[in-house]
Amino acid sequence: MRPTRVEIDLSAIQSNYRTACLLAPRSRNLAVIKANAYGHGGVMTARALESQVPAFAVAFLEEALELRAAGITKPILLLEGVFNAGDLREAITRDCWVMLHGTHQLDWLDLLPAKTKLPGLWLKVDSGMHRLGFTLAEIPAACAKAAPYTDRLVIATHFASADEPDKPQTRQQESQFLSHLPDGPFEISLNNSAGLQLRQSRGDEWGRAGFMLYGYSPLPAPPALPLEPAMTFKSAVMAIRRVAAGETVGYGGVWQAQRDSLIATIPCGYADGYPQTARAGTPILINGHRAPLAGRVSMDMITVDVTDAGTVKIGDPVQLWGPDLPATEVAAHNNYNPYELLTRVSARPQRVYRQPPDAQSYKSDTVRGEEDAVIS
Ligand SMILES: *Cc1c(COP(=O)(O)O)cnc(C)c1O
Repeated sequence: MRPTRVEIDLSAIQSNYRTACLLAPRSRNLAVIKANAYGHGGVMTARALESQVPAFAVAFLEEALELRAAGITKPILLLEGVFNAGDLREAITRDCWVMLHGTHQLDWLDLLPAKTKLPGLWLKVDSGMHRLGFTLAEIPAACAKAAPYTDRLVIATHFASADEPDKPQTRQQESQFLSHLPDGPFEISLNNSAGLQLRQSRGDEWGRAGFMLYGYSPLPAPPALPLEPAMTFKSAVMAIRRVAAGETVGYGGVWQAQRDSLIATIPCGYADGYPQTARAGTPILINGHRAPLAGRVSMDMITVDVTDAGTVKIGDPVQLWGPDLPATEVAAHNNYNPYELLTRVSARPQRVYRQPPDAQSYKSDTVRGEEDAVIS
């Protein structure tokens, strides 16, 4: 069997969620598991967290329905809202909370059967990101319109630069947002992972932790937090060859040996989710040593310069990223967004789930293809 696999430590995700909650002890905290839980497996992640969280968040209805089909019953917030009145009706019947972001969506509320109450209705406010949301001036009217449709109204905003604490934008967005809130019974929500690590939460607030659940801080200088990377993207050496000084390796011959070199080939390529544009020199962990990527990333394989990596044999273990080689380090080497590295790991490598000790509290069958395995 091809040794390339994605191992997910579900107890790390549980522990990271607890860490997120400690940062906002007075608020309630959603677990953001959109995009297949940032590549970690949405259903398995939801099962591992379901007894701990008040609610989940995904981007859109289809992502929520996948969780419902797997038996997840906690409320699920749709962060990107709904795209038509039919989706709004279905979201309500499936106990999803919707985040509405524009006046055209408020009109869909009038199309609902009389006296419909939404289990949760969030209004997204554009406090400066300028991507989605009601303007500050629209808040009072949107609240007045939405309030009769729910007993749980939440007014939310999203930070554009919370991961760049030196910029004043986050403080500006926060003060714009807070100063435009009308009177009335509602809760608020501002913090993503970076916000949770930077600003104090209030008691009437919902945190929306995503990236940090998977074990990383989005901040360049993270506070000391016991975050554990949950994903280990691993493989094993499949071939080793000597390459003389002056010879080239890989497509295009763009990497040229400056000395007699030892090259290890790893069965993991861009179709598995290793980024095609990764630069030569990107660290790969082989037998616990960081060795530099050599040559272009192919669809199914990469080549690594192991000349200085000690004794390397066929079958030796490789980590593309994980607890011993943070995805944030691989990303920084290439100027990538580390979120993208995690989310674009493809369905091709087998996913293996490491069970938390309370595994009997949720079902542990396989969920994404028959090869997916569960280990304890
Ligand atoms: C994805 C998302 C989050 C989670 O952000 P992280 O930086 O991953 O913690 C929070 N809020 C909204 C609206 C999102 O789309």
